[in-house]
Amino acid sequence: MQYISTRGTAPTLSFQDVTLAGLANDGGLYVPQAWPTLSREQIADLAGLDYIETCVRICAPFVAGSLNEDEFRALAKEAYGGFAHAAITPLVQLDAQQWLLELFHGPTLAFKDVALQLLGQLFARFLDKSDRHLTIIGATSGDTGSAAIHALAGLDTVDVFMMHPKGRISDVQRRQMTTIVAPNVYNIAIEGSFDDAQAHVKRMFGDPAMNARFDLSAVNSINWARLMAQVVYYFYAAVRLGAPHRKVAFSVPTGNFGDVFAGYVAAQMGLPIERLIVATNVNDILHRALSAGDYSVGDVTATAAPSMDIQVSSNFERLLFDLGGRDGPALARMMTGFETDRRMTIPEDMRIGSSLFTSARIDAEDMSMALRWAREASGQLIDPHTAIGLAAARGSDIAPDVPVVTLATAHPAKFGDAVERAAGERPRLPARLGSLMDREERCTTLPGSYEAIAAFVAEHARARS
Ligand SMILES: *Cc1c(COP(=O)(O)O)cnc(C)c1O
Repeated sequence: MQYISTRGTAPTLSFQDVTLAGLANDGGLYVPQAWPTLSREQIADLAGLDYIETCVRICAPFVAGSLNEDEFRALAKEAYGGFAHAAITPLVQLDAQQWLLELFHGPTLAFKDVALQLLGQLFARFLDKSDRHLTIIGATSGDTGSAAIHALAGLDTVDVFMMHPKGRISDVQRRQMTTIVAPNVYNIAIEGSFDDAQAHVKRMFGDPAMNARFDLSAVNSINWARLMAQVVYYFYAAVRLGAPHRKVAFSVPTGNFGDVFAGYVAAQMGLPIERLIVATNVNDILHRALSAGDYSVGDVTATAAPSMDIQVSSNFERLLFDLGGRDGPALARMMTGFETDRRMTIPEDMRIGSSLFTSARIDAEDMSMALRWAREASGQLIDPHTAIGLAAARGSDIAPDVPVVTLATAHPAKFGDAVERAAGERPRLPARLGSLMDREERCTTLPGSYEAIAAFVAEHARARS
């Protein structure tokens, strides 16, 4: 499989190169040259396969040319071996129609582990053979950072610089990053929002001086390999609920549009998906874009679901690329305009192509109600992000005979304060996290200026070999 940029001018890359590159050098994002498809029979044949084997079947066409099936299976086994549930991503039934897909059984209690544990294995494998040394620069609204640090700590072919918006992530999220003591991990708290941090990362990728000295790479959800890993659980869940003979809908708590884009990929590959419900909190740029074509950046409001406190959703560009007929130069013009004006209108004809999606904006009140409903209906304590997805799922007009699966993106204990406020009950941290709340923290606070951040990275990163 070869990968092309959404903006049409970056070189075409193999799976190995696209994994290590992250962002395309024309400012675009990499996508497969064409979507591979599974026939109905091939989807039916997934029935009864465990998570690892499902992962091998779904990822095979994407990794082809870089890894053979046995090599990939070994990495997948290693990646998911540490998950605390034997099903990796178990389904839980809430009522006759509503289901949860629990994606939080990895080491840092959020769905980002599903992708990053695999990405860590891919990095180790590809760098081991290449004698390259990478400098990973990341911005996190909380969960990507902890998952990336857990996946890459101690790997001596990479240094990881992870920025989070100071004071805007939960204590558990912060501690899962700052208590990891490894010589290749640097935690940076910056003044500002997640979008500010993300803008610094983008600027560093475009900075010739930094690129000359360091082999920069990214692990945020612009990295294709992460999205590939997430496609797997859509198939895994849908097949368990009767696919391909029965359609299934998914409700996805959305921030950077990565997780829900993986659902779109599953649909392109042939999975019969009734609907993808894009659930946002009050930071609702995606809801406005999908419902009214209004993709304009507002101010970020801090909410109880901080991993969705995002205005610019990087992966949305991948959807726009497909909806616009995969015309790189045209999309490049559209995105350049958006980067200047901070707004664009999605043309009507592009929206018609997206009938797979509906969207909902869920405020704090509706989030709390859904959280309490899950508690009362089935004894499930869920986290605020999951509650946003569930509120959107319950409010949708999906026919009663179609199962609706809400992606449970975080363990409730990761957002214990918010859960306690809404449900009156404090979720307990799983025992496997041990003494997280007592361990010493390591973190550097920097002002939100690009120069300060670049200087810090330049001082600590190992240069290109
Ligand atoms: C990252 C995250 C999201 C949003 O996922 P995207 O892929 O950015 O849309 C939702 N919930 C939780 C708990 C997350 O960590």
